[in-house]
Amino acid sequence: MASPNLILLLLLILPCALSFLLPSFSPISSAIHRLPTSSPSTSPYPLPRSSPFSHSMRLYSADFYRDLGIGRNADASEIKSAFRKMARKYHPDVNSSEDAKTKFQEANRAYEILSDPSTRQRYDQFGEAGVGTSAASGGGYGQGMEVDLGDIFDSFFGGGGRGPGGASGQRQRQRGPVTGDDLRFDLEISFSTAVFGGEEKVRIRHLEGCEVCTGTGVKPGSSVRTCSTCGGTGVQMAVTRTPLGNFQTQQTCSSCRGTGETVDEYCGSCSGQGLQQKSKQVKISIPPGVEDGNKLRVRSEGDAGPKGGPSGDLYIFLKVKSDPRFKREGPEIYSEVTVSYIDAILGASVKVPVVDGEVEIKVPPGTQPDQVMRIKGKGAPRLGNAQQRGDHYVTVKVDIPKNVSDKERSLIEQLRKEGGGGSSGKGFFEK
Ligand SMILES: [Zn+2]
Ligand SMILES: [Zn+2]
Repeated sequence: MASPNLILLLLLILPCALSFLLPSFSPISSAIHRLPTSSPSTSPYPLPRSSPFSHSMRLYSADFYRDLGIGRNADASEIKSAFRKMARKYHPDVNSSEDAKTKFQEANRAYEILSDPSTRQRYDQFGEAGVGTSAASGGGYGQGMEVDLGDIFDSFFGGGGRGPGGASGQRQRQRGPVTGDDLRFDLEISFSTAVFGGEEKVRIRHLEGCEVCTGTGVKPGSSVRTCSTCGGTGVQMAVTRTPLGNFQTQQTCSSCRGTGETVDEYCGSCSGQGLQQKSKQVKISIPPGVEDGNKLRVRSEGDAGPKGGPSGDLYIFLKVKSDPRFKREGPEIYSEVTVSYIDAILGASVKVPVVDGEVEIKVPPGTQPDQVMRIKGKGAPRLGNAQQRGDHYVTVKVDIPKNVSDKERSLIEQLRKEGGGGSSGKGFFEK
């Protein structure tokens, strides 16, 4: 009789050989058996990230009893509690390190095999090959299939679970305190504050950490113990048997609602939330050169995070009031000035309002209607570089009088006779 080990070994090697001939086979296979230790291939060929061959080699070296940290004579309850201990320590939602992921997968697989008396017996008799055949050969989806729990949770929760039972919620909690919400405040400022900056005081309402319990939500003097139901992880594990193998699923611990703690008495002042609505005056320092629609961030003036978590930020959305005298585009300011037709012809000095007062400009003789004059450096400061200022552009409007006095009329008639103008449209030189 041929050794069953030899046949199994052949079964394991055969699909590996096939996988080189049929590259499309391998990605499917490697997708199922994701090896946490595999490194991305730098080869230009579509080689599988983890070949089934290396996978099965790894399986041969596995020791399921060692993976669970138990002896060969361990009974069912010992196996179960050993697995729970491993899950608590190495579950991807508890421990994000790559090493923990590997350890958890190993423990998971070991538990799969050892928790079932018949597969355990086969494993005891034939080793890994006695239980790893179907999956390793790629021919079936029975016992021994390796499951990447991280992927399963991601697909269950869409990678964005928000509730305490969601995978990302768990991860966030494990990583540290949750940051509070950001807040928005709409602030209207004057045109000149936008140009030159300034300080504004606003009154906001936000959540602050409760003073009585210092944000913990626990009544001072009351004790907090680790939840005995979930052992402090906040989750309860359950094994679901499906045709694709055994899936570990987790649920929010019903005893502690995912907090991992049991509290004797909650803080009465904040109803155990650890947070209080507070009204507060916040000084906003507005830098020179801001514009309508700009946002300013005031760090840590948003809502405080739950359980002493850091505060979110306060965002000030700026609305800039208009100024009838000016138009502004970034650092450039635009305005108009009106001169008489005589000043336009003969030239004149006119006073022009600018953002920081008034300047006198020379309108040169022969200035045309809508001619634009530039006043250098009298625009708005550049945001982030207040020393640098834009320019002010003045459009010269020429006032043509609708009514003139008799004296003016005769003078203008005289001018016409001199040939300086005329309704014929011909100029002096064209005569
Ligand atoms: Zn409190
Ligand atoms: Zn619990």
